[in-house]
Amino acid sequence: MPRAAEGCFAGRNGQGLPAREAGQHVSQTRRFWGWGCEESAPGEEHQRAVAGLLAARFERQAPQLQTPPRISDIGMASPRIQAPPILREIFSSQPTDRAGHTYGKAFRDIVRGLRRDFSPAPDLVAFPRDEADIVAVLDWAGAGDVAIIPYGGGSSVCGGVEARLDGAYRAAVSLDLTKLDKVIEIDRRSRAARIQAGIFGPALETALRPAGLTLRHFPQSFEFSTLGGWIATRSGGHNATLYTHIDDFVEALRVVTPAGTLQTRRLPGSGAGPSPDRMFIGSEGTLGVITEAWMRLQDRPRFRASASIGFKDFARGAEAVRQIGQAGLYPSNLRLLDAGEAANSGVGDGRNALLLLAFESAHHELDAWMRAALECCRDNGGSIPDAAGRTKTDTSASRSGTAGAWREAFLRAPYLRDVIVAMGYISETFETAVTWDRFENFHAIILREVGDVLRRVCGTGSLTCRFTHVYPDGPAPYYTILAPSTPGSQLEQWSEIKAAAGEIIDRLGATITHHHAIGRDHRPWYDRQRPDLFARALSAAKGELDSRGILNPGVLIRARG
Ligand SMILES: Cc1cc2nc3c(=O)[nH]c(=O)nc-3n(C[C@H](O)[C@H](O)[C@H](O)COP(=O)(O)OP(=O)(O)OC[C@H]3O[C@@H](n4cnc5c(N)ncnc54)[C@H](O)[C@@H]3O)c2cc1C
Repeated sequence: MPRAAEGCFAGRNGQGLPAREAGQHVSQTRRFWGWGCEESAPGEEHQRAVAGLLAARFERQAPQLQTPPRISDIGMASPRIQAPPILREIFSSQPTDRAGHTYGKAFRDIVRGLRRDFSPAPDLVAFPRDEADIVAVLDWAGAGDVAIIPYGGGSSVCGGVEARLDGAYRAAVSLDLTKLDKVIEIDRRSRAARIQAGIFGPALETALRPAGLTLRHFPQSFEFSTLGGWIATRSGGHNATLYTHIDDFVEALRVVTPAGTLQTRRLPGSGAGPSPDRMFIGSEGTLGVITEAWMRLQDRPRFRASASIGFKDFARGAEAVRQIGQAGLYPSNLRLLDAGEAANSGVGDGRNALLLLAFESAHHELDAWMRAALECCRDNGGSIPDAAGRTKTDTSASRSGTAGAWREAFLRAPYLRDVIVAMGYISETFETAVTWDRFENFHAIILREVGDVLRRVCGTGSLTCRFTHVYPDGPAPYYTILAPSTPGSQLEQWSEIKAAAGEIIDRLGATITHHHAIGRDHRPWYDRQRPDLFARALSAAKGELDSRGILNPGVLIRARG
């Protein structure tokens, strides 16, 4: 088993993951320009270590960290509108609120934040307390030509919450839903709960725990994203197989639209025509504001088994993953990391690919499932550690050893990304999905052509890959780019690389996103990916629900008919 490498980017600074589990971030200082809370950011020692690693890897001088902005550094235009008197108490024009709701958390957002550029700031931020407030805000906005941008945790990485309006509206209001943060009702017998959309991941799990239940949906952004955001973006959780996206957990929805409020029926399944839930799942705030959902839950897992398997090359690992994915075993984790990705996370030696394999269950021991999956690995040359994969009934199966080291690196990665960006590097990811019959060729072309672009644009750079999710008919590969930029050109260089990756994915017939949504940034390729007639049908639905086109203009579809 590869040992966790000391000095990997993830660091070993012992800061742990204090806020994630208990959701303490509510009492910490949320950053208005970057990921998470000030208190959990990497310390100076870790930053120096990262600077040293970057310098060594790319043979450059150790980079300097740009000073993060303070709110007093930021100049923003005055709001163009005032809150309606009757709703004044739910609106804010405070600079911290406006700056904190200007961007999501994409690479470009962090760069602009560090540059103190908050020019697209919303004029006002509204914090509705209940549905009545949302109805009132939508009525007011519709009458006054004000764009409304639903906002959950603001963790969008595709321009989904940014008021990029090109002067087409009188003003923009960010509609922050995080005051709608309750688990209202639990139906233990059906294993479902009625939950408000603005609840953050940790608070949601805390509320379900006493009933022995869990949503078991853990995107990497779990700590700082909301149920409504997950549903609106069709987010992907930590389950690598079977329950990959939030979609399957949605039992019923409640949505406020400018044309009225709708509630779908609670049903375990239905064949009654196209699903109204599915129309709003993935609608990214363009068709309505999701206020509540009945969500399908699971019993909390008690049995866990995990193993880390080394492969001499990624292709052999991919073949093992394909066989496991098609064997009906449904592991909770089936993440194949290429050698570079494993090394960056501190769980590999930089020479071998690594498969993180895990099963979880509330009901049964997992040894038989693990044995069958390890057999697929053995058949493909995987090196299997002694005593791999025995069922455990405590959390040590996922929180210790290689699996634990990976988990910690994974959760700290967003903080680290901000540090790397502040050092003038390009740190970007893109993710997709493609059927197995095309994967090998697809992957080779991505590595070659995106690699060429990196060398041309930045002179050097690394491109690594892991599978985040695996389906019987294909994997969801997730690529990570790390490259030095030329001072002053960080955004332009990123833009060129991002566009090139989008073009290649589109040309090869894969999806422009597997779980990062469309927003404003993926529109050019999404517009090509979806059938034209579907686009027209979606626009017609938008016209019916939001005839004045005030909801999140520019996302998914053309703003006004
Ligand atoms: C470090 C990092 C890691 C990430 N990891 C993952 C991951 O593992 N899996 C994954 O799927 N994504 C991931 N993302 C992307 C992002 O977290 C998801 O898209 C998430 O679902 C967004 O939730 P949010 O509450 O932050 O929504 P926001 O960013 O606030 O909004 C996202 C979109 O949904 C709309 N919206 C939000 N709430 C509502 C609502 N109640 N009603 C209607 N529309 C609404 C917004 O208008 C916007 O278009 C990651 C992002 C970051 C920065």
